[in-house]
Amino acid sequence: MPLDAETLSPSLLLTALFALALVASVLIRFWLASRQMRHVAEHRQQVPAAFQAQISLAAHQKAADYTVAKTRVGLLELAWGTVVLMGWTLLGGLDALNQALLDALGPSLWQQLALLASFAVIGGLIDLPFTLYQTFVIEERFGFNKMTWGLWLGDLLKSSLIGALIGLPLAALMLWLMGSTGRYWWLWAWGSWMAFNLLLMVIFPTFIAPLFNKFKPLEDETLKARVSALMARCGFAAKGLFVMDGSRRSAHANAYFTGFGAAKRVVFYDTLLAKLSPGEVDAVLAHELGHFKHKHIVKRIVGLFAMSLAGFALLGWASGQIWFYTGLGVRPSLNGANDALALLLFMLAVPVFSFFISPLFAQLSRRHEFEADAYAVAQTSGAELSSALLKLYEDNASTLTPDPVFVKFYYSHPPASERLARMAG
Ligand SMILES: [Zn+2]
Repeated sequence: MPLDAETLSPSLLLTALFALALVASVLIRFWLASRQMRHVAEHRQQVPAAFQAQISLAAHQKAADYTVAKTRVGLLELAWGTVVLMGWTLLGGLDALNQALLDALGPSLWQQLALLASFAVIGGLIDLPFTLYQTFVIEERFGFNKMTWGLWLGDLLKSSLIGALIGLPLAALMLWLMGSTGRYWWLWAWGSWMAFNLLLMVIFPTFIAPLFNKFKPLEDETLKARVSALMARCGFAAKGLFVMDGSRRSAHANAYFTGFGAAKRVVFYDTLLAKLSPGEVDAVLAHELGHFKHKHIVKRIVGLFAMSLAGFALLGWASGQIWFYTGLGVRPSLNGANDALALLLFMLAVPVFSFFISPLFAQLSRRHEFEADAYAVAQTSGAELSSALLKLYEDNASTLTPDPVFVKFYYSHPPASERLARMAG
């Protein structure tokens, strides 16, 4: 058949590009995961020289086994996720769901809302086996899981309810803006989306997080005095220091800052306080303060604003093209609204393409971590930060010998060897 305008239509071109990007990204991810598993397994027999004084062979091997187990499940998830993505798009799943809802409800805002809601529910159910396996098999096997079935079910019900209470009005607002504000709807939608994100940052620590965990003011007076002195020295005011009962669900340890402006608070997991000495807690907190001092949080929010503006502009343009739907396996309705379809297709297709620039963001994040480490070393002590990090690596069974290429693609934090080398030097 000769090449003509029909075979080169934008719709076919999009299908080809999407399929090509999907195949390429899946191949790269399989390659990276197998490199990581091989590299970790090859270094399993010996603790790296730099860590031999602090890390036992048993702990090193546990980290290797945990890393390999998680990466292997990740591969299964990748394979399954690819099948599901193909099912929704080119194989016609989203189209079938849309047509069924059109038959049942007729073209309306309700039909579109029902499409978004049923997509979310079906997607959640499809992912459920992996979430369960992750928690009750992998985390359980390595002694991290503290979750009971009752707690798990309670969490699921609570988060579904909150998701519906927040998500449905937000989705209705988006659909209404798309349908009623004319050509530049995407600017309105972007503005509302950003306002929603900022609002969430304010209400999450005070209203949502307490539904899942208990937060108690830090009571240890020695630690409190020490932490307050550090914060005063660095010029920080926070609304409070809190301890969260992270041990209810998992043995993994962490500390974080949350909220902004007057709602800013410091949260320590109880698991962290149980494992680190006061000096080490200080050093970990100073690292978090370093992120603030270097304006990493503000930069991240500004970056999010800019990228979502570009995303909404692209969606604004694509949603008006018939080939955007047909190229991804969906028949748009020619007289009704296709806004919910456009949102879903966009959410499904964009990650396939953005995967290729994800190493840039990982690289930026690793640079920020080095900057925060340097700040912590200047404000507290490099020795305390090093020993705190090593304890956390050991307790979380994070491998000390990741594959360098895997690190470049995925790691938001530099590997322990690089961080400790910089602190010492
Ligand atoms: Zn950090």
